[in-house]
Amino acid sequence: MKIGIIAVFVDYHRRGRKNRTALQPQIGPLLAALLPGDADVHYVNEAWRDPDWSREYDLLFISSMHSDFDRARQISHYWRRRGARTVYGGPFASSYPRLCAPYFDAVIVGDPETTVPAVADDFSRGALQPLYHGREYRSEAVPTPRFDLIADQAKHALCFEATRGCPFQCEFCVLTGLGTRHHTRPIQAVLRDIERGRALLKGRVPKPHLNVVGFCDNNIGGNLTYLRELCKALEPLRLQWYAAATFNVISRPALVEMLARAGCRTLFVGLESFNPAAIADMKKHQNAVPKIRAALEHCRENGILVMAGLMLSPLVDDLAYIQRLPEYLRESGLHVPTFICFECPIPGTPHFQRLASVESPPFLPNALLRDFTGYTLVLKPARAPVPEYIDAYRKVIADVYSWRNRVRKLADDLPRFLKRGRWLPALFDAADVCATDPSPAGSRSLLAGTDTEPPERVPFDDSDFASDVERARILSPWRVTDGEGRVLERWLESAPVYPPPKAATRAAGRKLTASAAA
Ligand code: SF4
Repeated sequence: MKIGIIAVFVDYHRRGRKNRTALQPQIGPLLAALLPGDADVHYVNEAWRDPDWSREYDLLFISSMHSDFDRARQISHYWRRRGARTVYGGPFASSYPRLCAPYFDAVIVGDPETTVPAVADDFSRGALQPLYHGREYRSEAVPTPRFDLIADQAKHALCFEATRGCPFQCEFCVLTGLGTRHHTRPIQAVLRDIERGRALLKGRVPKPHLNVVGFCDNNIGGNLTYLRELCKALEPLRLQWYAAATFNVISRPALVEMLARAGCRTLFVGLESFNPAAIADMKKHQNAVPKIRAALEHCRENGILVMAGLMLSPLVDDLAYIQRLPEYLRESGLHVPTFICFECPIPGTPHFQRLASVESPPFLPNALLRDFTGYTLVLKPARAPVPEYIDAYRKVIADVYSWRNRVRKLADDLPRFLKRGRWLPALFDAADVCATDPSPAGSRSLLAGTDTEPPERVPFDDSDFASDVERARILSPWRVTDGEGRVLERWLESAPVYPPPKAATRAAGRKLTASAAA
């Protein structure tokens, strides 16, 4: 049985470029490990390379983010026309299974550990079902991913999963839209995966790479007790590692020191904003703006590079805030963030539901699903006319990512890392600062409904469509708002996948969140 797995990617800067940064989608190797051992599995991570359009598949798994759904739908059609049965999973499939169903032979809602083996089994019996719902998460069901399928991507490091989900409830986050849940894996299982992954790479990558690993968890600090135990287990291995965490981790000096001793060298943290009103509006209560500078400084002094993303809130931030952003960045010591985007109400999130349900929704007209990346404005700014808001965005990007500013950041960071012999954060810092090129092309409107079309294409020919109606059904981008900016009815139907935590767990979660925000 020939099985394909495609993780769909569309360059959100609309230049058609690949994204070969350290945080790559990890779903392919995990799905592959859940398939029958005798299956011939081929994995394509589109952020890394294009699909081989001449390949034949019997069964094709496709996963994508919300904004990449147009392409996921087209890829499905392409291979269905060539005889494959297609299965769609991922956050968008989980939020809107009914909308997705007509374009795939099966849709998966929730985690893959119980669904993917069931899909493969049903397919081999000729009894594929249209919808599969994941059963309750059990950490023992998580296998060691098929790292052999991504050995060519190990130029950064192999990534492992220690936790799943996040206990926080940031309003814009897709995880919050799917339902708040947080699971930890037994530490022995994480260590087992690391050992197997390193054994697999031995002889296939330069030796120093074997000592660098990543954690692909959305938030490795969702349970601080677990994180401390993980640090204790990692310390003797003398690995260097990177992960994503939220602010409550880096604002704890003793925990930062523990992370550094355990080999943590880089943390990606969603700082989001220097505007406390925007942070409150995002319901990202664990972020504490007045503590940013001290937290970043302490991380750096301990040899940990903090990479951070920022969002502009169209409903809260005014032009004065955007213009002052370079100053805030200088004062914080961050200088150059990994990205600056717009806070985006992704369909299915509480942020989207809240804005869609007000009497005059603040969406721009004719917004397309592909516009909901954070790099195209989909909301009318509340405190400035649209052209001035976009102009301020372009200017702040040009200022923050100027070479003068990049050099200033490296001059501030690198001596501190190198004096401690920490070459890895220095390397990541230099790579991030030099490679980042977020300046939008002048030809882009950056506005929903009128922004440049992404250049990625699926190589269809005329015989791929039975009629013009079918062609339009597959190729036309999906729309989220009408000509007046009203959200189309079908986008209001999403519901959380994961049930609210039981009473006892909820109380523990509240305690955790409260202590995190302290
Ligand atoms: S902390 Fe990060 S992963 Fe967790 S809900 Fe907020 S944005 Fe999502």
